[in-house]
Amino acid sequence: MRLILIGPPGVGKGTQAALLESRLGLKPLSSGVIFRSEIDADTDLGHLANSYIKRGELVPNGVTIEMMAKRIRSEEVRKAGFILDGFPRTIRQAEALDTMLLEMAMPLDKVISIEVDDDVVISRLSGRMGCTKCGEIYHSINKPPKREGYCDKCNSPLFVRSDDQPETIRERLRVFRENTAPVRDHYQALGLLEVVDGSQDPEAVYEAIVDGVGI
Ligand code: AMP
Repeated sequence: MRLILIGPPGVGKGTQAALLESRLGLKPLSSGVIFRSEIDADTDLGHLANSYIKRGELVPNGVTIEMMAKRIRSEEVRKAGFILDGFPRTIRQAEALDTMLLEMAMPLDKVISIEVDDDVVISRLSGRMGCTKCGEIYHSINKPPKREGYCDKCNSPLFVRSDDQPETIRERLRVFRENTAPVRDHYQALGLLEVVDGSQDPEAVYEAIVDGVGI
C-alpha cells in the first residue's frame, strides 16, 4: 500500500501514521521526523534544514527531494510500501515523486487530505509535546501525561518542538496554504484524493481514513 497524508501542521498526520503502522503494518516516512533526526545527529543536512525549520519555512526542494528519494528507492520501502507524512509539500516535490514512482512502476493508492480550520490547528500545536524516545504525542490540555514532563508509555522526558511557537505556527500555516494546498489540488485532478474531517477525535479520523482507502 502506498499512501500520502496531506494536511496542515498539527492536524494529526503523525498520529494517524503511527496508528496505520501499529494496526496495519504500513511504514511511515515523515520528512519532518527525518529532518529532526539529522538535526539531532548534527549533520550538514541537519544544520541546513534547521536554519529553515526554526523560522517555519520550507527546506529547499532539491535537498528535500534527494533525501526522500533515497528512502523511497530503498529495498525495504519498495517491498513494504509507505505512508508519506509531510512530503510532498510543494508542486515541484509532487512532480518529482510522480516521476520517481512511475519509473519504479509503484503507483500511489490514495492521497488522504486531513482538513481542519486554522483555529483548531493553533490550539492543538500550542501545548503539543512529544516523547524523546518513543515519539508518543501529548497535549497540555487535551492529552496531558500522567506525570508532568514524562512519557506515560516509556517514562522518557517529553520535549516541545522549537517550531511549535505561536509566531512560527502562523508562518507554517501560511506556508502550507501557499505551497501545499496546490499539491492537494494536483492529486484531486489525478483522481487520487480522499478528504477526511480532521476535527474529529483520532479514532474517528482513523476510521474515515481506513474507509476512504478501502482497507
Ligand atoms: P513537520 O514535522 O512535517 O511539521 O515538518 C517540520 C518542518 O520541517 C517544516 O515546517 C519544514 O520546515 C520542514 N519540512 C518537512 N517536510 C518538508 C518538505 N517536504 N519540504 C520542505 N520542508 C519540509
